[in-house]
Amino acid sequence: MYATMTAPVCSTSCVFTRLRSNTPFRFHFACACIWTWVEMELRERKADTLKEKLTNHYHKRNFQTDEKDASRYGQMFFWGMVFSLFFESQFFLVPKLYWGDTWSMVINTVLVWFTLFECTINWMGTYFGQNNFVTSEIKEEKFPGTAETPPGWINCPKCQVDAPPRSHHCRLCNRCVLKRDHHCFFTNSCVGFYNQRFFVMFCIYMVWGNLYSLFLQLSYTTQTIPILSWDGLAYIPMVGLAYMFMGYISLGELLLIVHSCFCFMCLCGGVFFLGWQLILACAGMTSYEAWKGIPWYQRTSLENVRSVFGSIWKIPFQLLFPFRVDQDGNGVEWIVRTKNVKYQ
Ligand SMILES: [Zn+2]
Ligand SMILES: [Zn+2]
Repeated sequence: MYATMTAPVCSTSCVFTRLRSNTPFRFHFACACIWTWVEMELRERKADTLKEKLTNHYHKRNFQTDEKDASRYGQMFFWGMVFSLFFESQFFLVPKLYWGDTWSMVINTVLVWFTLFECTINWMGTYFGQNNFVTSEIKEEKFPGTAETPPGWINCPKCQVDAPPRSHHCRLCNRCVLKRDHHCFFTNSCVGFYNQRFFVMFCIYMVWGNLYSLFLQLSYTTQTIPILSWDGLAYIPMVGLAYMFMGYISLGELLLIVHSCFCFMCLCGGVFFLGWQLILACAGMTSYEAWKGIPWYQRTSLENVRSVFGSIWKIPFQLLFPFRVDQDGNGVEWIVRTKNVKYQ
């Protein structure tokens, strides 16, 4: 009697035990989910073969993205990364790694807040410091009462203003921008004469923030998953996903690994943009001029740098706080050097 009553209870608890800990069960469950999804996709596209499915996927869909959407998503991606890294570092990684060591806790907490502050303030500098737009007042100030387009200037066919040399029209901002370099998707703004220095600082803190986050993430994950072993394959996200389903690593560890991969991508992007911007600042060119090979506005390296950052001795202070500086020039008038004659 006792045996017959307890039998169903035992079998139920067995199922739950299998759900929690049995690896093959989890693996089969994952396979079943993936297969169900593939079958639903095939049915939805009314395709019987893989070839038909691929044809439907790549030839019957409109993959053209709107650039304005891309700019908005870039901005959302940036803030998503900044805040997820901030909360992860401040409330999980730093306490897990340094709890009990007062000095390490204090130093790392200060570093996390400092990084958040610098990323935010330089993003704002790039976004709000963009009084780069060409207006009709600029021409009125330089050439009062003139109706014609001044020599060297162009009349923009899109926004109908007379624009000085080195300015270009941005189709996302729908305005002409003084010494336009490029439209940054992460700040959703144009980088030009007045905000290029903020953008350079922004790149510096992109690099620093991602390096520091990677250091914290890897310090934590390598305690249980060493990189230089077969377990280290888990740092490839798809392998990590398979390892999780097989029960080798936890979901939390997988999420940290995926997050650190995003960090690594942003780090590579940051290094590329920072390097490129520093080269341009020293060479006195914009991306467009470098691309087209236009050397007419280059001056000495020191003058080129002063045109972007203002006084050289103020640059280290700009690293800490983006204050107003007097850049060389006004973004409107440029000395043009003649062909094959180096500027003295
Ligand atoms: Zn324009
Ligand atoms: Zn723009």
